[in-house]
Amino acid sequence: MNILVINCGSSSVKFQIIRTDLELIEKNEDRRLASGYLERIGSQSLITLQVEGQPKIKQAVPIRDHRAALDYILRWIVSPETKINGISSLADIHAVGHRVVHGAEKFTMSTLINDEVIEGIEDCIDLAPLHNPANLKGILAARELLGPGVPQVAVFDTAFHSTMPETSYLYAIPYQLYRRHKIRRYGFHGTSHRYIAYRYRQLNGIEREQVNIISLHLGNGCSACAIQNGESIDTSMGLTPLEGLVMGTRGGDMDPSIIEFLHHKEGMTLNEIDAMLNKQSGLLGLSGLTNDMRDLVAEETEHNDRRARLAIDIFCRRVKKYIGAYIAIMAGTDAIAFAGGIGENSAEIRKRICVGLETLGIILDEKLNSTTVGGKEGLISKPESKIKVFVIPTNEELLIARDTVRCVKNVPRRW
Ligand code: AMP
Repeated sequence: MNILVINCGSSSVKFQIIRTDLELIEKNEDRRLASGYLERIGSQSLITLQVEGQPKIKQAVPIRDHRAALDYILRWIVSPETKINGISSLADIHAVGHRVVHGAEKFTMSTLINDEVIEGIEDCIDLAPLHNPANLKGILAARELLGPGVPQVAVFDTAFHSTMPETSYLYAIPYQLYRRHKIRRYGFHGTSHRYIAYRYRQLNGIEREQVNIISLHLGNGCSACAIQNGESIDTSMGLTPLEGLVMGTRGGDMDPSIIEFLHHKEGMTLNEIDAMLNKQSGLLGLSGLTNDMRDLVAEETEHNDRRARLAIDIFCRRVKKYIGAYIAIMAGTDAIAFAGGIGENSAEIRKRICVGLETLGIILDEKLNSTTVGGKEGLISKPESKIKVFVIPTNEELLIARDTVRCVKNVPRRW
């Protein structure tokens, strides 16, 4: 089957076309046929498109909204000049898989989309006001443009974490607030953590239930996940993706009293504080320079910038804290796995996170660490390291495509 994978953000759409089916999944022979990214939707949109094995095409085109974005993508896919292997008309797209950010307690697995599921995703908007509306726009546009006969599947960022016990997901606030409003930790990046667990299992030739790892997704958004016996038992993001690690523009853990304090001292409204916590904090807020880790490392190395160093040090220390905490609640772990733009590419940041953890049994191999970058996968710890360290480049789109096939064929599974 040719699966169109769609990831709609508030002003962007990412897509891939992946050829996969149950047999190809078994043989690990799924194949990406094309991919693309449309950003700045709502004005002059920047578009990057690529057919596998061919150079990237970049263009700037005015794109009004998500429907227009999807229309543009579909026209490109079937255009005679594009020539994607085995695709000449819309009939060659057999199903669509959507990344949906929040599934709350309602959706614990990937789900074939019908009217009831659309309502369910709408019900979760309260919990993800920035993300779920964009995801819904993508679903409705795909249904309109491809017709109701093409099955669509929702793959939720929260679903993998639905196995967390109450002791992890409840906040220590009055219990009735959980009852009344479902205020609890949900966790995000679930599809990424699930992929990391799946690849770890493959790399080590073990069963699902034998996966005991700490998975670190470190990109522009960052989260840690404690995976025990193959299930997420704790994760650093919470009710929203604001909690936990230091991220590009989000600060992660902090004392909630800061909100009231800021309101009094700076006269900021709740909306302004929320925007500051989401968009002006984290690496950007600390450094005053950028949210981009690569640029921060360059500033530190080339100009010895104090605030760049401080931002990086705080980032690494927070990750270290979570590693320690998760080793404690799991009573030990077999491995740590790095993923995401920073986790996959920055040997320097991995080194700074792991340094000092030798007493816990984590010993990096400098050479393996420095050469496992740019999409490479593998072990980066020394043979004597009690806890192994891996780099596992994540691939959420592949799991979305596979889940889509499994839901369409009525053989859904957790991972
Ligand atoms: P993602 O959201 O997963 O695409 O990750 C984006 C983040 O990865 C940005 O902060 C990038 O600066 C960071 N990144 C990518 N390559 C490198 C690198 N070689 N060194 C440090 N950070 C990197």
